[in-house]
Amino acid sequence: MAELARGLGVTTVDWEYAPAPESRDVVTIKREYGLFLDGEFAEPKEGGHFTTLNPATEEPLATVAEAGPADVDRAVAAARRAYEQTWGAMPGRERAKYLYRVARLLQERAREFAVLESLDNGKPIKESRDVDVPLAAAHFFYHAGWADKLSYAGFGPAPRPLGVAGQVIPWNFPLLMAAWKLAPALATGNTCVLKPAETTPLTALLLAEVIQEAGLPPGTVNILTGDGATGRELVAHPGLDKIAFTGSTEVGKEIQRAIAGSGKRLTLELGGKAANVVFDDAALDQAVEGIVNGIFFNQGHVCCAGSRLLVQESIADTLSERLRQRLTTLRLGDPLDKNTDIGAINSRQQLDKIESLAAAGQDEGAQRWSPPCRLPEKGYWFPPTVFSGVSQSHRIAREEIFGPVLSVLTFRTPDEAVAKANNTPYGLSAGVWTEKGSRILWMARRLRAGVVWANTYNRFDPSSPFGGYQESGFGREGGRAGLAAYLNA
Ligand code: NDP
Repeated sequence: MAELARGLGVTTVDWEYAPAPESRDVVTIKREYGLFLDGEFAEPKEGGHFTTLNPATEEPLATVAEAGPADVDRAVAAARRAYEQTWGAMPGRERAKYLYRVARLLQERAREFAVLESLDNGKPIKESRDVDVPLAAAHFFYHAGWADKLSYAGFGPAPRPLGVAGQVIPWNFPLLMAAWKLAPALATGNTCVLKPAETTPLTALLLAEVIQEAGLPPGTVNILTGDGATGRELVAHPGLDKIAFTGSTEVGKEIQRAIAGSGKRLTLELGGKAANVVFDDAALDQAVEGIVNGIFFNQGHVCCAGSRLLVQESIADTLSERLRQRLTTLRLGDPLDKNTDIGAINSRQQLDKIESLAAAGQDEGAQRWSPPCRLPEKGYWFPPTVFSGVSQSHRIAREEIFGPVLSVLTFRTPDEAVAKANNTPYGLSAGVWTEKGSRILWMARRLRAGVVWANTYNRFDPSSPFGGYQESGFGREGGRAGLAAYLNA
């Protein structure tokens, strides 16, 4: 366009985006937060407090209580009481009313939630505003709809809840993961003790306020902030009937060992190393958007991220060129700026992990490329990065980086694409880009992944079950299948 304009003798302008910051003032962050226990905020019995930071600036946001073993006891006892006396005994149509109320309050307070999520997590406001918060509300709406229809869901005439669920969630989608865990558990009549991640506790605590405001019976939802030790204490508690965990494969395995033989039901939503497969007949510009969304959405802190791009050899150069052009247009910076595409990395620890795996990629001989991009001086940042010349044995093709890093591999035939895509210990998701419907179905049958997206990527809906195979875990969240994980059916 600029060349055309010059040719026509028209003066061109280099467009700069003016800052478009969302207001921080829409949310009040307290200086200190307690635990949410039995319907009230309470001080921890024995644990201390920790500070949660804004990863974009390293500025402390608030001090948060750290739950110890006595607090876990209190929370599980409160959840048991609520299960036996109020929530568990309530007809589904009554439970539904509370869940609809939570959903509507989330919508009413959406801006507050979005700003708080971006401050505590580092993700761009346009993602927390357009994805995390609306999807969290959608999960409550969707499951509210199921609460009075469980007898018709195909689990027998009167499926029973499991009891008390212990739920441990990660930092990449703090509010959304809380909704994924709480909504189905509550709709099916269970009560919950939820532990958010240490680096991102604030939106779960705001959700606790919403739960209070919605008038859920005390003890139905308890929120215990803390670190891995609190999580370990919770999952080992003998008073639980069910554990639901999302996080690393390593911790998932530890939990499996810890509860073996206890009779607790378990669902694990773990890591991934998904293949995003682009055939030579794909609509390339659309595929480029899907690749960018697949790996750079949420700074790549996504368990189903399309972190391995498998591209058919005949179009590899063209696709790579278009991808690079597209990446030069991404804007990295202030998560609260509405124009920002790439926000901050959630923690120093995660940044160290991304840096060390990227260094391993270079050491093993892959070619590293990033668009010109100035990183802010304070905070935790990593530029969008693409590795080409990657072979299947490289660590960056095998290990979950959980950052904005794409590994590009090539293939010649559909069989080779399937073999390479499935050459991973994980099995959470995959993407296929082709104009042929028959090829999509052929691929979907062969890809060992819980979710296969066709000509799109990273699309989520509460009615669509999500979950993995192999080291990506087991059990499904969302849809009818997700209800089964909380029912004695
Ligand atoms: P973790 O698996 O350690 O954390 C997930 C949650 O589990 C957090 O709430 C954590 O607490 C808690 N936790 C930690 N240890 C235990 C334990 N022994 N028993 C019970 N709960 C526990 O993930 P990390 O945050 O350490 O991230 C490490 C790597 O894991 C990432 O680099 C990424 O590769 C992967 N990951 C994958 C996710 C996914 O969705 N698949 C999500 C997050 C991470 P706390 O954080 O407070 O210590």
